[in-house]
Amino acid sequence: DPRTQGIASTIRVVPNFPKPGIMFQDITTLLVNPKVFKDTIDLFVERYTGKGISAVAGVEARGFIFGPPIALAIGAKFIPLRKPNKLPGEVMSEEYVLEYGADCLQMHVGAVQPGERALVVDDLVATGGTLCAAIALLERAGAEVVECACVIELPELKVSSSDLLDGCMLIPNSI
Ligand code: 5GP
Repeated sequence: DPRTQGIASTIRVVPNFPKPGIMFQDITTLLVNPKVFKDTIDLFVERYTGKGISAVAGVEARGFIFGPPIALAIGAKFIPLRKPNKLPGEVMSEEYVLEYGADCLQMHVGAVQPGERALVVDDLVATGGTLCAAIALLERAGAEVVECACVIELPELKVSSSDLLDGCMLIPNSI
């Protein structure tokens, strides 16, 4: 799709952030370009419209930027998957290992019903650990994760759905 090149060109790479050796992919430079931001959302909406998806789960924090406009456009609910101790109600938790240590995602109990078809949204996939935790939360609640959608795939840390995600298709629209 010709739009993907324009999207990729607006993502700024910041060396040594948040610590030495990390090449940080900064999506704020995409967000300040309304045409490119819209192209990004449109690509996902085109892919997921009419797929029977009733829930879009966004991963804190940048999944909260891309997830809601996709959810609204496809007529699905939005579910925030948050870092620990942010959600006020009863939660389910899933711990995972990061490049920078261990972390945890939480989801409200009852946010999704058994049998619902869900999409997971985040800005970037590196090792896939964060997406795996998100998928585990939704599946434990009985939802079916149809796909995971990310804007950026780090090529040096390529994950494959068969290796990591046990049959869950990953980042179809990665740019
Ligand atoms: P993974 O769990 O796949 O190793 O890492 C993906 C998570 O780390 C995502 O939630 C993503 O937001 C965050 N992340 C890691 N590196 C970067 C980066 O360079 N840029 C951005 N925007 N997010 C990153």
